Amino acid sequence: MNENNNPSIQMTNTERILEVKHLKKFFPITKGFRKKHVGDVRAVDDLNLYINKGETLGLVGESGCGKTTASRCILRAYEPTAGDILYRTKTGVTVNLSQMSNKELRPLRAEMQMIFQDPYGSLNPRMNIFEIVSEPMLVNGIKNRREREDRVAELLTKVGLRPEYMVRYPHSFSGGQRQRIGIARALALQPNLVVADEPVSALDVSVQAQVLNLLMELLEEMNLTYLFVAHDLSVVRHICDRVTVMYVGKVVETASTEALYNTPRHPYTEALMASIPIPDPRLQQNREGLPGEVPNPSNPPSGCYFHPRCSYCIDKCKTEMPELKEIEPQHWTACHRAEELKLEGFHKNE
Ligand code: SF4
Repeated sequence: MNENNNPSIQMTNTERILEVKHLKKFFPITKGFRKKHVGDVRAVDDLNLYINKGETLGLVGESGCGKTTASRCILRAYEPTAGDILYRTKTGVTVNLSQMSNKELRPLRAEMQMIFQDPYGSLNPRMNIFEIVSEPMLVNGIKNRREREDRVAELLTKVGLRPEYMVRYPHSFSGGQRQRIGIARALALQPNLVVADEPVSALDVSVQAQVLNLLMELLEEMNLTYLFVAHDLSVVRHICDRVTVMYVGKVVETASTEALYNTPRHPYTEALMASIPIPDPRLQQNREGLPGEVPNPSNPPSGCYFHPRCSYCIDKCKTEMPELKEIEPQHWTACHRAEELKLEGFHKNE
């Protein structure tokens, strides 16, 4: 692994474990027999974010806003089109993941793990729990079966499952238990950075809290750092230190969780918060959801991408793309009217 000596792409802060700069991921659209390039789906378009060691950053937005694509680019499951992904390894070396070959990335794969959304589809039904959880160990050279069994037993206990379950197959577990198995597999190699892609959205509400609490306990116990991808702002609020909101491949707001929920500075964030359900049917029936749909990223609207759905839109919004600006310390937003608008925070009306 080569240390990245280019001073222009060093991390700006020693606390940071990850710094993403101007990340782009375009999927080409081709036409005809000759596969002529006729356009691009701009799934991620100039994404900037950072995560400090031990922190949980929420990456939120509606389905189709590019958050899952961005998280997969960060882990190099997708090849980024452009941009830098600076990562500080366990040994303290800063590397640029976006410029590394697959061979150079291989030793780092153990340090960066993913927890998947679907606890049913992500576990191979033909493998028992021991085989599933110990597979990353085997791939990374831990050949001794006894050693792997001990480690799997330890991991299952850590995630709240009994060690004797390791001989069972995925079909004999509930959704919450399967997600715990997925978490055990992600932790098998003692990672540094864990990307959790909608880890509780497929679970019952009663089980969601248990899995979120488990993730928070493991964060401290195992000295982890999370990138938590979610569409549900009510989930993110309980687990994240900071939140980045994406819309059509771009960051529209990023702030500490407290600042974002109390004083949002972008109309899209306000609208997302207003669509969080309230556990009171009388109040819930008077609420309006976010109008319209996320635009097609291959043909986004002119100016501010949010303008067709924004109730604060003015003429300038239809022609000029707003830049992401630091409006208060550590609070960035991309809106022409950010200074003048007084937006509602989380359930302030109720
Ligand atoms: Fe709404 Fe204009 Fe701000 Fe975009 S720039 S979010 S359209 S007010």
